[in-house]
Amino acid sequence: MSVFLHGTVREIEQITTRMRRIRITGPGLRDLAWRPGMHTRLRVGDPRSPRAWLHGLLRTYSIWDYSPAGRLDLCILDHPSAGPGAQWSRRVRVGDPAAFTPPEGRLVLRDDARYHLFVGDETAAVAFGAMLRALPPSAIVHGAISVESAGDRLPLEHADRLTWRCRPADLVDVVRSLELPHAPGVAYLAGEARTCQAVRAHLVRERGWPRRAVIVKPFWTPGRRGMD
Ligand SMILES: Cc1cc2nc3c(=O)[nH]c(=O)nc-3n(C[C@H](O)[C@H](O)[C@H](O)COP(=O)(O)OP(=O)(O)OC[C@H]3O[C@@H](n4cnc5c(N)ncnc54)[C@H](O)[C@@H]3O)c2cc1C
Repeated sequence: MSVFLHGTVREIEQITTRMRRIRITGPGLRDLAWRPGMHTRLRVGDPRSPRAWLHGLLRTYSIWDYSPAGRLDLCILDHPSAGPGAQWSRRVRVGDPAAFTPPEGRLVLRDDARYHLFVGDETAAVAFGAMLRALPPSAIVHGAISVESAGDRLPLEHADRLTWRCRPADLVDVVRSLELPHAPGVAYLAGEARTCQAVRAHLVRERGWPRRAVIVKPFWTPGRRGMD
């Protein structure tokens, strides 16, 4: 059973048209072993329903930013089929309690990368935001991010190296059109599951990248509830 960390919601900001940045603070959040790109599993049951809160639903969210002083930011998309996660982000108020698992995950920067390639959608951009912020200005960055509309663009570092496209643009086509160095770098693919697989297939089959150079973390898929 996971050990939950407990904090209090301190700030809620509409950071893009459809995404809320939710800041959680508390003494129990100090000095966590966090690496940019990691995620947490958040309790999204209604705290007014003790059963839902205690045994309740979990949804997974990337950590947009973290301070070892005890502050953690999540960015939650309010998508059209709003399940418990998106509903939690609508309902939550400053002062509410929040419970979540310690940071974890393998979607983290590879230190030995010749260059870094980020590919995904608006949900993936949350993890990418933390990872991009952690890179030195000299790092070589490429990226392709698809969004529903321009209002979904999160503010990211190294923005001039990222190609943003609004759907229905096909992310595989966007990646295919990127001018990448001849030798492989390290790719981080996240967001909608089938698109992640299609981009991986492109990199491995068409560009000849080794599979180990492609880190894939599907975040969601149409019709499936609560992936992790
Ligand atoms: C490692 C990891 C990190 C993640 N990080 C983030 C993050 O930083 N921010 C974030 O918002 N989400 C993130 N997600 C996705 C998140 O966990 C939930 O899947 C998402 O919020 C949907 O939860 P829900 O309860 O609202 O809907 P659910 O009940 O889980 O799903 C209902 C339906 O909504 C649809 N749906 C789900 N997500 C989307 C979407 N993005 N766009 C369109 N339709 C969708 C699907 O058809 C799904 O069947 C992450 C997932 C993983 C695994």
